[in-house]
Amino acid sequence: MTTPRILDGKSVAAAVLDECRAETAGLKQLGITPGLAVVLVGEDPASKVYVASKARTCAELGFHSLKIELSADTSQEELLQVVRDLNADPAIHGILVQSPPPKHIDEEAVIRAIDPRKDVDGFHPENVAKLVLEDPTGFVPCTPAGCMKLLEVSGIDTSGAEAVVIGRSMIVGKPMALLLVSRKSNATVTIAHSRSKDLAAICRRADILIAAVGRPEMVRADWVKPGAVVIDVGINRVGDATKKSGYRLTGDVAYQEVAPRCAAITPVPGGVGPMTIAMLMKNTLQAARQLA
Ligand code: NAD
Repeated sequence: MTTPRILDGKSVAAAVLDECRAETAGLKQLGITPGLAVVLVGEDPASKVYVASKARTCAELGFHSLKIELSADTSQEELLQVVRDLNADPAIHGILVQSPPPKHIDEEAVIRAIDPRKDVDGFHPENVAKLVLEDPTGFVPCTPAGCMKLLEVSGIDTSGAEAVVIGRSMIVGKPMALLLVSRKSNATVTIAHSRSKDLAAICRRADILIAAVGRPEMVRADWVKPGAVVIDVGINRVGDATKKSGYRLTGDVAYQEVAPRCAAITPVPGGVGPMTIAMLMKNTLQAARQLA
């Protein structure tokens, strides 16, 4: 049993946002105001919270921010037209369509319609290719970029480390694995997923364990190698009658029992979540610079 280091995403994100604020001021002196458009289709409550928080952060940094809220019955063609208009708008440097859209929307087609130079989520195939190619002009998806920044700022050496990523989504798991295996990070990476056999044994190999599954407290103490670094990406709402909202947020890691085994761990909330928004702002600044 040890006292783990708590990787405080809130304070690291605040430092990243300070850098962004300074860079924004510099760009404004050159006549460029970074602009981010966030499109929300429908009424998903978690998405509404994320979109509001993104708009608030834009305002704090002095960005031009556009929040486009569309009703749940918006057609695919109407949404594509909104994206095309934003592609053509010179005041907008970054576009994101909040996931998940309603079921009748083909999310893949919407992502492909976004100008890759404005795709600050990093989901367009052109940016996925650039991630694989390690081309720094591409946009790296914000959540895995935030995890890497947190590891880097915390002085955690990934080189030669055995890393296990649980989850293979295009938003978190796959880009996370690519970043860890890149020539900059040099980890040895395993991607585990819903069909992996003996997940606990795979996880026990990890010096760095990244959980991005969406299952509350799935990772238990005996899945974790003593002294490992654990990054919990999961954000799960679980019912809690003691809370005014009726729920509390929990990660994919059983924090109370896992933390004492770790060298370092991220809390939920206050770990990866704040880093995601900070990296979105960084990506928008990159887009504004590259489009200038
Ligand atoms: P997803 O549903 O797209 O992918 C989940 C992945 O987990 C899949 O690849 C699946 O193979 C794997 N999986 C599912 N059940 C499994 C099991 N029993 N064993 C092993 N693997 C299993 O989810 P996502 O978009 O990658 O998000 C994952 C989690 O991260 C969610 O809780 C989400 O809310 C959270 N998230 C957090 C942030 C943040 O800013 N912190 C950002 C994005 C997602």
